[in-house]
Amino acid sequence: MNKVLITNGHIIDPANGINRVGDLYISDGKIEKIDLDAQGRKHVDDLEVIDATGLIVAPGLIDIHVHLREPGQSAKETIATGTNAAAAGGFTTVVCMPNTSPAADSPSVVALIREKAATESCINVYTTGAITKNIAGEELAPIGSMHKAGIVALTDDGHCVQNHELMRRALEYARMFGLPVMDHCQDYNLVGKGVMHEGYWSTVLGLPGWPSAGEEIIVQRNILLAELCDTHIHCQHLSAAGSVRLLRAAHTRGIKISGEICPHHIALTDESIQGFDTNFKMNPPLRTQDDVDALIEGIVDRTVTILASDHAPHCNYEKEVEFDMAPFGIVGLETELGLFIDILVHKKKAIDIAHLIELYTINPARLLKLDRGTLSPGAIADVTLIDPDLEWTVDKNTFASRSRNTPFHGWNLKGRAVRTIVTGKTVWALS
Ligand SMILES: [Zn+2]
Repeated sequence: MNKVLITNGHIIDPANGINRVGDLYISDGKIEKIDLDAQGRKHVDDLEVIDATGLIVAPGLIDIHVHLREPGQSAKETIATGTNAAAAGGFTTVVCMPNTSPAADSPSVVALIREKAATESCINVYTTGAITKNIAGEELAPIGSMHKAGIVALTDDGHCVQNHELMRRALEYARMFGLPVMDHCQDYNLVGKGVMHEGYWSTVLGLPGWPSAGEEIIVQRNILLAELCDTHIHCQHLSAAGSVRLLRAAHTRGIKISGEICPHHIALTDESIQGFDTNFKMNPPLRTQDDVDALIEGIVDRTVTILASDHAPHCNYEKEVEFDMAPFGIVGLETELGLFIDILVHKKKAIDIAHLIELYTINPARLLKLDRGTLSPGAIADVTLIDPDLEWTVDKNTFASRSRNTPFHGWNLKGRAVRTIVTGKTVWALS
């Protein structure tokens, strides 16, 4: 039996309203209790003691939007390298997207990913299934059999189902199996060949624009369909101020709709594309300072309840092309926590660290019905130790990820994870 005592840490467990200094006792991979008394400690043999003085002891962090690229694109990332990157970012659980090659649109591909993850990953990996076959937006994937194979949600991420009637059918099937549907919100006709936010800078730089309305119109579509089908829809990687306003209004009417925000959409604006560096090319794109302010406001008032990376590894040779030609996306697992703590907690003083931890633990766990994200006695002992004041510099050359496509190389950040514990075992610690 492995027994671990994490002493003198600042324990923050939003699910149970715990926010105080104490000791956390882990026994046999489960949370035993908080505050093991000194008398009890003496009677425990082979106790591993971890001194957490000055550190935050949080439930293991969960990132529900990660591209692990396996099967089919292991030059960019593998399940092994991607989950090592997650552990180094403080994540004990990731949810991987189905746009692999072949796509996770059948029980056999879902089973393949789950089997590989079970043997090659040091953290928990949950899988999603595609809404449509080959993520082509034309014909529904076998939702029932993928549910049986163990998916936790449906999404066509990277793509967006344009046919509203087909999306309605998907929601009706999802509801039968209690599966949440996650959506990458993009109207293809409005967005066209857009590669950056449509506005002042796209005009100056002469690049095709991706208007905010191209996202907002699908967010509104999802609100209408969530109401019609009484099924939860989670809007992925929101980038536009209008999307936050739409969610806020829908919540006042009790509609089952939620949203997530990625760090790059609050750390950067479209102005940073001036140098044509393709590491600033995202989908949805970086937008304006007004959008950044609105996204942060949405986090503050809990219109947006989840943070995620949209970790999207690409090889250097793919990104080292003209801006129009380059693939969208950046790696994020090893920088997201630092960026959010640095910006939201320290610089903007928008939220406190307990609120931030809620957005990475109990909220995503509840959305996807995962038995994770708390330090309740009896819960699986996934724990992340965080130093909220540690100053560090992002160095892409030290990433555990196989890819290096980040716009944050050389950034000085305050706050990061220092130890990642999965089922009571340390799988990564800052050296
Ligand atoms: Zn996406």
